[in-house]
Amino acid sequence: MVVNDARILSGKDAAAVWRAEVAGRVGSLAADGLRPGIATLLIGDDPASEVYVRMKLKAAEATGLQAFGIRLEASASQAEVEEAVGRLNDDPRVHGFLVQLPLPAHLDPAPILQRIDPAKDADGLHATNLGRLVLGLPGPGPATPTGILRLLDHFGVGLVGSRVTVVGRSQLVGRPLSIMMSAPGRDATVTVVHSKTADLAEATRSADILVVAMGRPGFIGAEHVADGAAVIDVGTTRVDDRLVGDVRFEEVAAIAGAITPVPGGVGPMTIAALLANTVMLAESNRSR
Ligand code: NAP
Repeated sequence: MVVNDARILSGKDAAAVWRAEVAGRVGSLAADGLRPGIATLLIGDDPASEVYVRMKLKAAEATGLQAFGIRLEASASQAEVEEAVGRLNDDPRVHGFLVQLPLPAHLDPAPILQRIDPAKDADGLHATNLGRLVLGLPGPGPATPTGILRLLDHFGVGLVGSRVTVVGRSQLVGRPLSIMMSAPGRDATVTVVHSKTADLAEATRSADILVVAMGRPGFIGAEHVADGAAVIDVGTTRVDDRLVGDVRFEEVAAIAGAITPVPGGVGPMTIAALLANTVMLAESNRSR
């Protein structure tokens, strides 16, 4: 085992630079008399979701956006949630919004997410926007994958010709990220790993860049990582009031070339991506 001094890829630092850029664009819109607005729709009182929503609204305000936190009771019906989405679609103060996931178990997320006006889709999860992504057309990209790409760019981690393994194939993270990384211009060769993969360690050990989005705290250890690889830990699970990643940080940092911390890695980049998407939607709304 080669002991490296892994470079820490701080999402906190990279997001601060990105948010400052977004704030500049907010300033330009303000000069034209337009204040971009973002809204979050939170259903229920899940403590982790409350924390995430608070962080998003706070970052939005600090970046100069108008922020609206909309809440519904945990008992809200499917129709009530879809109506709330409809009201945000119609609200001229709101240029982008998101529905905080996960939803209470009795709600079906798919029709709720598809009810979002694609021109206000801050999270980039509407079928229209995911379709645009697959076709290589511009539009709001899915927030977490967009944030991960920006993080790699910020720290000069090159994708062209690299071998990437993405652990997890969710609609939120793994699947869109694998499409984005293998797209012309990004040019990585991507392997996607999931719970039915026969030999997970073989796939992860062959990666120059390993992205882990499983939601299994501490699952990935040194035995899964090639010497010198860049490791992006997307996982965030609340364990005893602490946020724990999917990667055993100390152990993996000893052999990796670069690694993201949890917290302070992908999370702040996801929030910055949301703000960047919303400001982009406000800009394109203005030019319509
Ligand atoms: P998800 O929908 O539960 O997907 C998890 C994926 O991991 C699935 O594809 C699953 O495979 C795979 N998986 C689970 N156990 C596995 C195993 N033992 N071996 C191989 N693959 C396995 O989760 P998600 O929404 O993508 O989120 C993943 C994690 O990222 C969570 O901790 C979440 O909180 C976190 N997250 C963080 C941010 C952020 O901004 N930091 C944003 C989004 C998500 P199958 O498809 O076969 O079931």
